[in-house]
Amino acid sequence: MQDLTPTESLATGLTCIECGATYPLAYRLECDRCRGLLELHYDLDTLRRRGREAFQGPGLWRYTAVLPIARPEHRVTLGEGQTPLLECPGLAKFLGVKRLLIKFDGTNPTGTVKDRSSATAIAAALQFGFQAASVVSTGNAASSIAAYAARAGLRSLIFVYERASAPKMLHIGATATDLIIYKGVYDDLIGHWDRLAEEQLFFDCGASRNAYKQEGKKTLAYEIWEQNGFRVPDVVVAPVAVGEIFIAMARGFRELTRLGWIEKTPLMVAAQATRSNPVSRAFRDGGPLTPIKIGYTVAEGLATGDPGKKGEWVLRLLRQEGGLAADAEEEEILEAQKVLAKTEGIWAGPTGAAQLAVLGRLLAKKQVDPAQTICVIVSETGLKTEAEVPTRQGAAFDYNSLRALVLGRLAP
Ligand SMILES: [Zn+2]
Repeated sequence: MQDLTPTESLATGLTCIECGATYPLAYRLECDRCRGLLELHYDLDTLRRRGREAFQGPGLWRYTAVLPIARPEHRVTLGEGQTPLLECPGLAKFLGVKRLLIKFDGTNPTGTVKDRSSATAIAAALQFGFQAASVVSTGNAASSIAAYAARAGLRSLIFVYERASAPKMLHIGATATDLIIYKGVYDDLIGHWDRLAEEQLFFDCGASRNAYKQEGKKTLAYEIWEQNGFRVPDVVVAPVAVGEIFIAMARGFRELTRLGWIEKTPLMVAAQATRSNPVSRAFRDGGPLTPIKIGYTVAEGLATGDPGKKGEWVLRLLRQEGGLAADAEEEEILEAQKVLAKTEGIWAGPTGAAQLAVLGRLLAKKQVDPAQTICVIVSETGLKTEAEVPTRQGAAFDYNSLRALVLGRLAP
């Protein structure tokens, strides 16, 4: 008996992660009783009966069954998801590991993993009847939300800090209805903006509370499982700024375990930049999460000194489920970016390459077993990064000098 079509969402409600209170599927950012964060729940029994054939079609909406958007007309898309899971033998050899997989999410429509959460965020904004969406961002989320809002015909109020890279600014300027530049870092504005979100002046496309937005990033877990022959890697290294990707992926792997489709979840590694490392620091010290004042980091997307309740959630997952957290210095991140480009031809921005730098550190400290299958989430393209051009000093050639140069370069 077929009780549901393959394109039907199996979301059943929201549950508070602190007190367990349950709510129907409505626009709600936190628990009424205890102000705890909420997570989505699904009818996994039905999904188990349907089998993995429930996942059909291309891109992110292939996983509609485990996403919270009921009506097909709300499922906005620019072709996000189904990004390549690349076997990287050259990089594996360089790092001295047996098998290395790169999940390259820089190939998403706006060049970032955030397109996954922008798709579900803007879809949810449509689902709950909002006319405007807003986000405070260091750049990537800003251009992504602006693009998806434009696609859906919504107003977009996009708040970007002064130091966002020029390519990102150009992109946001082109897609947003309203680009507002603010002084300072993310942490300076987010408290005020959160209060406006509570007044429901716009749909909250921020990373700190919206369960519907975060859910799009869960598809990373399902994709990796499918692309790796319905198995999960032993280790997954994921970026942590506020913590959406980490929390969403951990949830995805947990759902796959509950479905009985994998035996155990991968070891999850939370990767941060040393200049914005509150989660990694708390994990190392064994204490509670303490916000830190941060300066500039090349890994712009990781620049969060106060990840709030989501940061605490990441820490809880790390401690309960036996994960790891670590951070990498600026020069290590830039070196990882170069190595990734030279060994595998993958051009990632520093935010995308930071996870590789963190893996390098953990391997050096023997905290990760090099004989295992390791998957690194490379979360952004390098094509939107601002950098100095190496040189603009050109040479003039005739046939003979050109031939001599080519022969010289190709000489063994
Ligand atoms: Zn609660």
